Amino acid sequence: MPIATVDPATGETLRTFDALGADEIERRLALARSAFAEHRLTDFGRRAQLLDRAADLLGDDEEEIARTMTTEMGKPIAAARAEAAKCAKAMRWYASHAEKLLADEHPDAADVKDSGASRVVVRYRPLGVVLAVMPWNFPLWQVMRFAAPALMAGNVGLLKHASNVPQTALYMEDLFLRAGYPEGCFQTLLVGSGAVEGILRDNRVAAATLTGSEPAGRSVAAIAGDEVKKTVLELGGSDPFIVMPSADIDRAAATAVTARVQNNGQSCIAAKRFIVHTDVYDAFVERFTGRMRELTVGNPMDESVQVGPLATEQGRADVEELVDDALERGATALCGGGRPKGQDRGWFYEPTVLADVTEEMRIHREEAFGPVATVYRVADAEEAVALANDTPFGLSSNAWTRDASDVRRFERDIEAGGVFFNGMTASHPALPFGGAKRSGYGRELSDHGIREFCNITTIWHG
Ligand code: NDP
Repeated sequence: MPIATVDPATGETLRTFDALGADEIERRLALARSAFAEHRLTDFGRRAQLLDRAADLLGDDEEEIARTMTTEMGKPIAAARAEAAKCAKAMRWYASHAEKLLADEHPDAADVKDSGASRVVVRYRPLGVVLAVMPWNFPLWQVMRFAAPALMAGNVGLLKHASNVPQTALYMEDLFLRAGYPEGCFQTLLVGSGAVEGILRDNRVAAATLTGSEPAGRSVAAIAGDEVKKTVLELGGSDPFIVMPSADIDRAAATAVTARVQNNGQSCIAAKRFIVHTDVYDAFVERFTGRMRELTVGNPMDESVQVGPLATEQGRADVEELVDDALERGATALCGGGRPKGQDRGWFYEPTVLADVTEEMRIHREEAFGPVATVYRVADAEEAVALANDTPFGLSSNAWTRDASDVRRFERDIEAGGVFFNGMTASHPALPFGGAKRSGYGRELSDHGIREFCNITTIWHG
């Protein structure tokens, strides 16, 4: 894949970039290692000062970086601004919380004595240079939710961003430099995915985090496993959105639309499979489909547009294949099902709702990374859970109910890294984020996220 900015709303290539050569990669690896030697010794006060300064600068740059993101990957401009603001919030959160989250731990006195020690301290020390392989869908947020905790923990970052968001990637390196971070603390490597193996195997790289597709995750985890290096993986999802009879159907339908089409349908935590109790199926599906049909699709720079183009031509082709396969095998398109009429340029796809989906259709098991929902009718909570879990993924889940026994059952039985009741899945700096099954492992954000790339060191005094 060439490293280039291609406007998904027009298909026009706006800028291309050369990939870094071997000598430059070597220079940057050496720089990262020497930056780590210094950065690991800084105190939390200094790290917080730097990160807060970067958050201030990001606030000043919000409009400019939002326009860059929208140009590179097509998200509606208001969502791009919100993404920049969310990053600044997470940066400030880690700046003010990291010291407490990584404070020394002191085991119980009786256990210390039992271990034969006079004193024991458990300390969270940084791991070193962490490689982040990141996707284009939230091009600022996906990176920042790694970078903010990593830098606060005393690690340094190397970013291999998706090849279609090079300007956003370069902006991030520049942001940290302008904030006063020493050179090498956060570097963007403009390289293709073929260069990842060599970088990951390099002795100066301690660990890796990847957000993206399952094949990319599998490859990075296999190489890291071979090198015995820690990884965190955040891969795809096909989150269920369960609607039970006690739910507020209007609110559920309105939220379902947002949950499905946020980021033009290209979000790992988007609700993708709508599992509806038969008593409220018709009422919910009618409202949901009506709202999906009314969405405004078009130029993402236009403030009134709700759904922009898909980020890449390949991404749209993948969505088309999934929908066409379902339609050929007997699914019904309640709305959408193809490209919008009259939009010849760009990689647009209509908001689509598919009913009569069966197990043999690919969309039943695969992630639809576009504005495409499937709706299923179920008889009871047991069937809802079985269908919710009938997927290789386990990122998050949503359940709409006011019934206490439903709540207990869904809390206990849904196989996912999150269960969100009467709302949609969203990440927050204080809450752990990550998945089970093929959605990956490890956690981002919260205390769990910042500790992933720490060497948890037992310091024992006899
Ligand atoms: P990819 O997984 O291919 O891309 C994500 C990142 O991984 C990019 O930086 C990419 O680099 C890199 N990469 C790809 N292959 C490898 C590899 N073998 N080794 C190392 N790095 C690699 O995602 P796509 O953009 O191709 O999207 C495909 C599907 O992945 C989507 O339809 C969706 O299902 C899922 N996805 C999930 C995301 C999530 O948020 N969990 C985000 C994006 C995609 P490069 O761009 O240079 O190829």
